[in-house]
Amino acid sequence: PTTIVDELGIALSNLADAATGAFTPTLRLGVTGLSRAGKTIFITALVHNLLTGGRMPGFAPLAEGRFIGARLAEYPDATIPRFAYEQHLAALTGKTPFWPESTRRISQLRLVLKFQSRHWYAGITGPSTLNLDIVDYPGEWLLDLPLLGLSFAEWSAEALDRANRPDSGKEAGPFITLLGEIDPLKNANDVDAERLAAAFTDYLRRSREHGALSTLPPGRFLLPGDLEGSPALTFAPLPRPQQHVRGNSLYAMLEGRYEAYKDQVVRPFFRDHFARLDRQVVLVDTLRALNAGPTAVADLETALSAVLACFRQGETNPLLRPFVRKIDRILFAATKADHVHHTSHDRLEIILNRLVSNASKRARFAGVETKSIALAGIRATREGTISEGGETLPTIIGTPMAGEMLDGTAYDGKTEIALFPGDLPERPDSLFEDGRPVELNFLRFTPPQTLDRNTNGDVVLPHIRFDRALDYLAGDWLA
Ligand code: GDP
Repeated sequence: PTTIVDELGIALSNLADAATGAFTPTLRLGVTGLSRAGKTIFITALVHNLLTGGRMPGFAPLAEGRFIGARLAEYPDATIPRFAYEQHLAALTGKTPFWPESTRRISQLRLVLKFQSRHWYAGITGPSTLNLDIVDYPGEWLLDLPLLGLSFAEWSAEALDRANRPDSGKEAGPFITLLGEIDPLKNANDVDAERLAAAFTDYLRRSREHGALSTLPPGRFLLPGDLEGSPALTFAPLPRPQQHVRGNSLYAMLEGRYEAYKDQVVRPFFRDHFARLDRQVVLVDTLRALNAGPTAVADLETALSAVLACFRQGETNPLLRPFVRKIDRILFAATKADHVHHTSHDRLEIILNRLVSNASKRARFAGVETKSIALAGIRATREGTISEGGETLPTIIGTPMAGEMLDGTAYDGKTEIALFPGDLPERPDSLFEDGRPVELNFLRFTPPQTLDRNTNGDVVLPHIRFDRALDYLAGDWLA
């Protein structure tokens, strides 16, 4: 709880700031999640809703009439790509709305928010401002943090151990075969380095496509960002030779590149971006995993546990301490909640909560507040009911994307349908009774094709529980 002294301190510093106009607090919000979890949509919705004062009764500053407005501002660091908000919004609100391109690399955006503070001194200081810096980055990149504590030999031993496991056989086969053909002690050369890196990357990609081992580092091998093809990504694990390793050997070359990857790619990302975040939202495509069955859910849990480990590495490994900052709040969000009827939204939250609590059982977050929420950044469906055999079933109504299939019907991307998506179980432990997945009808829908406008003429993006998410992430900074 804040004390009088704290309050006075804040009041005085705010008065001083107001007098000089110099200091605006900055909230750095990280938005992450594995590929296609919904980061791009979440951020586009976030920015648009703040810029236009969207329909957000659950966002306290707006509901209490204290939110004055927001504008986009120049990001202080000109070397980081800017989140392509305008482009993404144009895709979603054009004549034929389509989903924009997903996150491939880190990007940032700054919003300046103006609001009336609740504090007693607000009457003296007038409206307050807050910089909201949004940092979008692939969750895959978080898988790399443990590498900072591992030498090339240690990492290689781990990676090869995994690749040699019987259940990695099909995916890892070509890489293991190639390893057998190349002597790590031969002279360093780019051809072999590239062949090994290509085979290793292929193995990681195929493992991910097949669902299994979706969490193998290095994360940039899965999502290289701007580094595709660069030497820092042209390495692979090698067995440690028994003999002396010459400085001009292939082994030494790949070891050097692994170290360069850590120094020039991983460390700067954690130091300059991750360690500076104040709050974090982790987006999770829970429904897609549920729809795909128990193996996909188990994989998702493993992936989440690797991602979540980053938020506490500093506590356990002193080597990693400088790269981890204590984030005080993490929101877990099950995205695309518009794929199920609202009667399932609470259940979806409970399921996600179970997934992340299992995943973070070892990772007790000392002092970190967490919450799980089911949301849709952009709602692509409406709700309705159908009668079937004397029973009334809750449905969702939307237009499946071209190429989506269900029960032998292929959709053309133009036809609206009413779909009974299935019910999520009340108790998460009954998710996979008898090993069978819950029956879910999960189809990708086109984004909403007609959108309302508010009294200012701005497009209104429909959402689900998005305002609550925003309130949890930023509401108290606007108090
Ligand atoms: P990321 O940037 O890779 O995390 O993912 P995106 O934000 O690009 O989302 C991937 C895909 O998921 C989109 O192209 C949409 O098809 C779908 N999607 C994301 N958010 C929503 C949502 O709120 N509702 C619906 N129906 N689909 C969504």
